[in-house]
Amino acid sequence: MSCDFLSLANSGVQKLHPYQAGKPTDELERELGITDIVKLASNENPLGLAPSVKGALQNELTELTRYPDANGYYLKKALADKYAIEIEQVTLGNGSNDLLELIARAFVSRDDEVMYAEHAFVVYPLVTQAIGAKAVVVPAKDYGHDLVAMANAITAQTKLIFIANPNNPTGTFLEQEAIHAFLSKVPSDVLVVLDEAYFEYATASRRGNAIEWINEFPNLIVSRTFSKAYGLAGLRVGYAISHPDIADILNRVRQPFNCNALALKAAETVLNDEEYLQKSVALNNQGMDDLSAFFTDNNLDFIASMGNFITVDVGKSGDEVYQALLQQGVIVRPITGYGLANHLRISIGTQAENQRFKEALTTVLNLES
Ligand SMILES: *Cc1c(COP(=O)(O)O)cnc(C)c1O
Repeated sequence: MSCDFLSLANSGVQKLHPYQAGKPTDELERELGITDIVKLASNENPLGLAPSVKGALQNELTELTRYPDANGYYLKKALADKYAIEIEQVTLGNGSNDLLELIARAFVSRDDEVMYAEHAFVVYPLVTQAIGAKAVVVPAKDYGHDLVAMANAITAQTKLIFIANPNNPTGTFLEQEAIHAFLSKVPSDVLVVLDEAYFEYATASRRGNAIEWINEFPNLIVSRTFSKAYGLAGLRVGYAISHPDIADILNRVRQPFNCNALALKAAETVLNDEEYLQKSVALNNQGMDDLSAFFTDNNLDFIASMGNFITVDVGKSGDEVYQALLQQGVIVRPITGYGLANHLRISIGTQAENQRFKEALTTVLNLES
């Protein structure tokens, strides 16, 4: 007789639901028997791989019989130079999700509380539950983080606070003064992760540079990724910048080869490719304006976004509209699981992809335009 393995799993894991990724394009192609599918579901960079990265990866192929550099020295050095920090402050991850999990696993015990906002990024509840720690979910304000309420919700048990800025899936943005005021209220033995996966897309004059606050607030960890504006989602590489003592702890828990050789090389290369980054951001700004205007013209409420996606109230079940859009060959992201049952999240695509989405939504919702 087979054993009930679920009962063997730790209690947090028993209640865990797997991460729901965006539907893969080839899966929908097989289902519908059509080929021109548009995927605007996973906040990927629509520009395609940076040409500079293609060349660098080609050269790296001959090295793949070797283990990667366990310390990721060259990538860390490039990050340290770019942000004027010490190499000892950098921790590399297999995507920044790896780091979010690493931070929780290294610091949080079952008796601790982990705090995050309603509608905040799904990885925060996932890593909290996997440990079996107590989640403290603070109600959102205007779909975003209510930092005043979050500061008030801190208890003696609070160990870790996740803040996504901009937030996914709402795209909401916190101004620098608000974050600084919040950090001033957090006890020095409570860790704050500022998850800046969409940093490069946020308006330069408003996003500041939270890394500069680490001296003032050594309990602050800033995480960023190469998956979005740098266009390397498939390679999985992200980084955390923190006080060196925190990085030292994270590096003890980290798998020694958590970043593979191609990922290290690609990230190091694209980090210096200013032209690719600027093109990515410009394309995103253009698409954001396009979709915002489309929603406004059609009286659809959307949440102003600083990311590479926009979340819109479709006025009825988002799951149903999502299914209907699939039939039109357009994959977007329903976000019922985030407590937003009438919203859909649309990643900004190329001009042609955005056009396809607008046409599909016009058909599905019977819009006038
Ligand atoms: C996409 C995303 C990440 C990171 O993704 P990785 O690919 O694991 O680097 C982290 N935080 C938020 C809020 C995101 O949307």
